[in-house]
Amino acid sequence: MDFALNEEQRMFHKMFRDFVTNEVAPLAEEIDHEEKPPLKLLPKAAMQGFLGALLPEEFEGVDLDAISYCLLLEELARACTSTAMTISVHNGLVSKTILDNGTDEQKGKYLETMALGEKIGSFALTEPAAGSDAAALETRARRNGEDYILDGCKTWASNGEIADIFLVFAVTDPEAGAKGISAFIVERHTPGFKVGYREPTLGLRGLTCNTLYLDDCRVPAENLLGQEGEGLKIALKALDFSRLSLSAICLGGAQAALEAGVQFAIEREQFGGPIALKQAIQNFIADTAAEIEALRYLVYHAAWLADQGEPYTRDASIAKLIGSEMAMRAANKMLQVHGGFGYMKEYAIERMYRDFRALRIMEGTSEIQRFVIARDILKEKGLAINP
Ligand SMILES: Cc1cc2nc3c(=O)[nH]c(=O)nc-3n(C[C@H](O)[C@H](O)[C@H](O)COP(=O)(O)OP(=O)(O)OC[C@H]3O[C@@H](n4cnc5c(N)ncnc54)[C@H](O)[C@@H]3O)c2cc1C
Repeated sequence: MDFALNEEQRMFHKMFRDFVTNEVAPLAEEIDHEEKPPLKLLPKAAMQGFLGALLPEEFEGVDLDAISYCLLLEELARACTSTAMTISVHNGLVSKTILDNGTDEQKGKYLETMALGEKIGSFALTEPAAGSDAAALETRARRNGEDYILDGCKTWASNGEIADIFLVFAVTDPEAGAKGISAFIVERHTPGFKVGYREPTLGLRGLTCNTLYLDDCRVPAENLLGQEGEGLKIALKALDFSRLSLSAICLGGAQAALEAGVQFAIEREQFGGPIALKQAIQNFIADTAAEIEALRYLVYHAAWLADQGEPYTRDASIAKLIGSEMAMRAANKMLQVHGGFGYMKEYAIERMYRDFRALRIMEGTSEIQRFVIARDILKEKGLAINP
């Protein structure tokens, strides 16, 4: 087994790290404090190709493999989880989903503008009454001549405030259950479509999550993504990839927390010397470092499976479950290393602690990841389970 990055991946890694050090890190505190999306950064990220990271060159993308893409998100998350999530939703949940399922016309119309950062993507699956139970959607879409008419309400649409292209999931056949859901590309200025309330949140304050309203919203039939009834399948496939992406964000975030804790432990003196000399503090550092290294292999292995075209649903869920729980533990321990300073807004660990809490919820809660993992294992034994 070869664990080494190839030359191209190493080159990308350095490029990502330089970009993050020079452009993202200086703005991370401001993004959180002002609760603004990373608008200053997105054009620069687009210039580097990061907003077309998963798209082929014909759409102005840079066509990163999954491992390189994970390295990108890992690096972004070392500085700013909000920026990493903003870019992850745009790429992994939206443009890649259009690439994988779209018609030639849809790809031609949307992907290049997305790669260039002229249009940002948002993914609207969740509803007030349909969170973990994504099949329980109430938003309806009915065919009307050359259009579909959409009615309903979506919550938690990440990038809602800044997006132009929304992937909206709605029920086209209420009798067909999970097979009655379809996916639509809805443009921001479509009549009957309104981006509403932005959720004020504990963390990830640069990621704008909005409620969306669809009221007699007329979407051309050519904006149906995939076939009628394929919506849930499309959403779940997109979520597989975004769970892998999120696990890379956990990895970068946890690494940043560790680095902040180590630095503080060396500088902070109590009882006549640096607290880093105390074994209790060393244990926090060692346990966190060990967990980070374990996660690194889970993330890269799941990414490697994706690159080989192998199934990776279970592996992505494992990496997401372990990663999000671990990132939270890392922030908690490293905040403890900081003592009272860690509870102050002045220190980045305070932001990380708030940001990382969301990672256990979004793109499927930890409980749902456990279900996905158990379902896959039990299926091999011939037992089908439901959530
Ligand atoms: C910051 C943030 C960004 C988000 N971005 C997006 C986005 O861009 N697009 C989008 O569509 N959604 C988004 N979401 C929504 C997110 O996907 C949902 O919050 C998540 O799926 C959980 O749904 P829920 O909040 O309705 O919780 P519920 O499903 O109501 O769950 C409540 C609790 O019950 C548990 N639970 C539910 N069912 C089961 C079960 N079968 N077995 C065991 N436990 C169970 C859950 O694990 C949880 O602990 C985002 C959420 C957050 C916090």
